[in-house]
Amino acid sequence: MGAALKINGKTKITGIIGWPIEHTLSPAMHNAAYESLSLDYCYVPFPVSPDALEDAINAIKALNIRGINVTVPHKENVMAYLDEIDTEAACIGAVNTIVNTEGRIIGYNTDGRGFMQSLAESTIDPGAKDILIIGAGGAARAVGYSLVKKAKSLSLFGRTKERVEKLVHNLNTIKNSVLSCNDLSAVGRYHMIINATPLGLRKEDPLPFDTSSLKPGQIVYDLIYKKTRLLEQASKKRCVTVSGLGMLLWQGVFAFELWTGRMPDVDVMRNALLQAMKYIRKFK
Ligand code: NAP
Repeated sequence: MGAALKINGKTKITGIIGWPIEHTLSPAMHNAAYESLSLDYCYVPFPVSPDALEDAINAIKALNIRGINVTVPHKENVMAYLDEIDTEAACIGAVNTIVNTEGRIIGYNTDGRGFMQSLAESTIDPGAKDILIIGAGGAARAVGYSLVKKAKSLSLFGRTKERVEKLVHNLNTIKNSVLSCNDLSAVGRYHMIINATPLGLRKEDPLPFDTSSLKPGQIVYDLIYKKTRLLEQASKKRCVTVSGLGMLLWQGVFAFELWTGRMPDVDVMRNALLQAMKYIRKFK
């Protein structure tokens, strides 16, 4: 039976809000995982403009939606409209997953855990490493929060200095090992460099930094989930490269667990993501 025919009065609705949202891969991976476990759930994208955010969050209760992922540009602003915020999400200052439990809506952040799990899957141990994060937005905060206790040192670079300084200060309250980095000419001295900016999403984007001083064996992680020019250049320099696909997958796995109380089949979700990416490349 096709998925649409299975939807009935008891089906639990989950989905994602963002603006824009057309290119999201999350419906493919969540619906495939529901199907594989025969769970009566479905996952749909909701385009929600910034002006409509409060109404959209109220609608979670009104429409009895079980859970929502939150993506750009709502991860921070959404916090004002929730009944409760989990400690990790409050520390990060951003929510990417909402759970509606009997009318009470609670915000979580699974991005940081997703990032750490993707590192583990790539057999990368952040311990004893000097790590540079470029960017100071929601993703940089989630990744920084997860890495700060494990890494030897964290350095942060961003174009808005006040944002960087604020994040440096907040992370240093967890472990005093965080510095701000004022120029990107010395990327060769870090064990791992993480791009947490959107630079690379579009073909015409400049590289987030000059890759000429990269050395073989350095780890370059781009949170963007496709193979970016940064990763291509880093591969040519014989760096270890990681795309954001693993983080996207694992943040979804942890959100799925929060909504259903079940662990999904991770390979089903991964394959659905890869298929959806191929489809987008071919048709969009
Ligand atoms: P965000 O909150 O908007 O933050 C973006 C950061 O990048 C900000 O620090 C911003 O600088 C900086 N930035 C934006 N445009 C820039 C430019 N042209 N030059 C230099 N810096 C620039 O976005 P986010 O949620 O952190 O997302 C960042 C990236 O991570 C996106 O590409 C997103 O797709 C990716 N991401 C991936 C996953 C995953 O699961 N793989 C999850 C979350 C995010 P300012 O501080 O000056 O604004």
